Formats: sequence, C-alpha cells, structure tokens
Amino acid sequence: MVKKFFFPILFFCTIIYSQNDSLIVSLQSIDSTIIQDVRYATKNNFTGKVLYSSPIVFLRKVVADSLSKANKYFKEKYNYRIKIFDGFRPLHIQKIMWNIIPDERYVANPLKGSRHNRGAAVDITLVDSNGNELDFGTDYDDFTEKASPNYLKFSNKILENRKLLKEVMLKFGFTQLDSEWWHFDFKDWKNFSIPDEDDFN
Ligand SMILES: [Zn+2]
Repeated sequence: MVKKFFFPILFFCTIIYSQNDSLIVSLQSIDSTIIQDVRYATKNNFTGKVLYSSPIVFLRKVVADSLSKANKYFKEKYNYRIKIFDGFRPLHIQKIMWNIIPDERYVANPLKGSRHNRGAAVDITLVDSNGNELDFGTDYDDFTEKASPNYLKFSNKILENRKLLKEVMLKFGFTQLDSEWWHFDFKDWKNFSIPDEDDFN
C-alpha cells in the first residue's frame, strides 16, 4: 500500500498593507485625545535647537490606528492618556541628530535610516487625568543607562509604570527598544520604506 503524505506547504507570509494603511497621516486626524508635545519643534530637546518646522505628529495610518487603540485602552482601564514626543522623522533631521550623537544605542545611523524615518516608531509617555506625566525614572531623551527598560534600580512605582507602558504597547502591536523606555517600533516597520525627502518639503 502506498501511503501518501501530505506535508503542509509553508509560505513566508509578508503582510502587505493597503495603500490606505501605508499613508502617512496626521495623528490628530486619527486620535485627537493623544497629547502631542513635539520637543524637536522647540528648543527643549537634546540638541538645544528647533529641528522641526511644525509641532504636528505624522505616522503611517496603521501605526496611528494601533497607537489610538492603545490610548483608548489606557483611558478606559487606567484613566491615563498617551503623550507623544515624536513619530515620523524626516531623514535630513536624522542626519543632524547623528552628527550630534553618533551612538547607535540612542540615535539611528541615517545611512541605514530609522524606524522613525519610516513613520513606524513612536516616542511616548503617559499622563494622568490631570495631565501630569507619570514617573518613568528619567526624562525623554535621557541618554544614560537609566533610560533602558532593563535598568531596575528604581522604586516599585517607577518599575510598575514602565511595566504597564510596555505591556499595553506590546498588546497593540509594538515592540520596545531596549535602550529607551519611551521608544516603540510598530511590529511591521520593515514593510514601510523611507519616504523621499522631497515628498515633505
Ligand atoms: Zn524614538
């Protein structure tokens, strides 16, 4: 008797997002309850210079949708809201940052391009119902070991805040950078290219 074995054929599935999901959109148009505090549009950032001409956050639509779902979850379960410091970052800005801090733990090399340059990463924190930022142990863009989610020499409250932020963001399709507690990449960031600079000038 001839036995026939049918092996499942494995395909490498790459999620191709629709043109609509890949669009770079204003976060405000997706979720106006996420607080925007774009430090790079002010002098209050590690360069001490105004780098962005506009304080508006842009993201790939599917990334903005996922962030909005995480924000809704934080609001409904904890009465917290997301505050965002940065989303899409034009490549020419990446070059300026790299010239100031050429350290790949904290700033992506513009030759490779970053997830921010693809519109697929966010820098965020949480605020309570009074708009006060929760304590995560360091400020945004603190380029020390204390910024790492693996740094544990903090109070329980800070460690709980960090754990909550990470858990909820992972639940909604993001991964956390292991050197910055505030930085989350959208899981499918590789699907998005780095837009041509001319598209935004
Ligand atoms: Zn970041």
